[in-house]
Amino acid sequence: MIRIAVVGTGYVGLVTGACLADFGNRVVCVDVDRGKIDQLLRGEIPFYEPGLKELVDRNRGNGRLRFDHDVAAAVRAAPVVFCAVGTPPLSDGSADLAAVFAVGDIVAANLGGGYKVVVQKSTAPVGTARELWRRLRRAARGGQVDVASNPEFLREGAAIETFMRPDRVVIGAETPRATRLLREIYRPLYLIETPMVVTGLETAELIKYASNAFLATKISFINEMANLCEAVGADVHTVAKAMGLDGRIGRKFLHAGPGYGGSCFPKDTSAMVRFARRHGERVRLVEATVAVNRAQHQRMVRKIETALGGVRGKRVAVLGLAFKPETDDLRAAPALAIIAGLLRRGAEIVAHDPVAMDNARALPVGKRIAFAPDAYAAAAGADAAVIVTEWNPYRRLDLKRLARGLRRPVLFDLRNVYEPADAARAGLAYHGVGRGTRAAAKTATKAAPRTARKPARRPAAKAAARRGKKR
Ligand code: NAD
Repeated sequence: MIRIAVVGTGYVGLVTGACLADFGNRVVCVDVDRGKIDQLLRGEIPFYEPGLKELVDRNRGNGRLRFDHDVAAAVRAAPVVFCAVGTPPLSDGSADLAAVFAVGDIVAANLGGGYKVVVQKSTAPVGTARELWRRLRRAARGGQVDVASNPEFLREGAAIETFMRPDRVVIGAETPRATRLLREIYRPLYLIETPMVVTGLETAELIKYASNAFLATKISFINEMANLCEAVGADVHTVAKAMGLDGRIGRKFLHAGPGYGGSCFPKDTSAMVRFARRHGERVRLVEATVAVNRAQHQRMVRKIETALGGVRGKRVAVLGLAFKPETDDLRAAPALAIIAGLLRRGAEIVAHDPVAMDNARALPVGKRIAFAPDAYAAAAGADAAVIVTEWNPYRRLDLKRLARGLRRPVLFDLRNVYEPADAARAGLAYHGVGRGTRAAAKTATKAAPRTARKPARRPAAKAAARRGKKR
């Protein structure tokens, strides 16, 4: 049993705290956000994450997990301090490290007499952990303090599973004592033969960025292939499937769509571009990944605009706001970029999301759109429905019912959830992403009897051609 303080009780901190308590440690989770700690003390979970409430309740019940407002006291009492505060993007794309160094200052002022290790779990540019260590050693004046980097790879929506059964644990630690402590903390994972990568601080930090940048690149890559499919009349679904059958490529992260979003990929790719430049290097592939992703969000707006013959005064039902299913996290969600683009062009938006609507209402954009209690209500009387997030309820919609409710039966399936032919059979003009097969386009166009204006065939290809001419 190790006494652990987790500073920052957001997605990563709360999941880390609850899971480490479940491993048998004695954990206190602290945060500067008093409201969040009050919620947790009342037994409420501040965000949506499947299974987290049960895990938190169980470990509070057995006394291994508690919450406190007093960051200093928690840090003073614990030999191991996990730093899980946010590292949001600054306006130039670099990571804001103010919270990480604020935690460093609190630890420096509360080192106490004994040994302490600060475990840096926040995603922070290469060099952050060493800088933190330098500052803490100066404050310790001969006392013993270590800093380790232990990047987190959990996935929102499956956070507990991905923390408890990770593909690997990365431990950046440069003293035997810190390495021993971290190995001890993660010992339960040895039983399930989780690979442990023990390495230096800089390598550990870079592993996190390299992993996220690679996954983001895979998404931008397949999105570019999807756009090419639309231009040449190929089907990205089949292209990706066949590509993924090659073991060297793999099937995952090859789903064409509206572009990635969320609290990690956008900010981590941008931060990597910035810190690489600071070190005199360019990561051109990552720069391209960022640019392709931004363009993909806007391409979705143009896709809708072109197919509807303009969106001014038209009502668009947006299905799915969260950046991915099973979370209420709206940070950098593609839906927000798409909604903003449609609003700018004069569209009226009615949105639905199974869990993220309260968070959306709290945003400025939430005041400019309407919300509906379910997908069919959102679509009722709308000029088109747009699936932005592939929540399970949107995977098994009654397409005929959806088509009957829409004023114009047009479906933009930005996650390629449906087969174009099925949508066409339900009477919907179907627009997926990268599903440019000539046959599919024909069926979709034919099957739109109630559409006042004939939807453009392969609109993205037309737009691309126009752009090409302009150049
Ligand atoms: P979050 O915004 O949900 O939580 C951060 C918490 O830190 C907030 O509750 C905030 O109040 C608190 N905080 C800020 N400054 C503080 C301070 N000085 N002292 C105490 N608490 C403070 O963020 P998150 O999504 O949990 O991400 C945390 C870090 O983990 C980020 O660096 C992120 O990139 C990384 N990460 C996130 C995920 C993810 O899926 N969310 C996955 C892997 C890594």
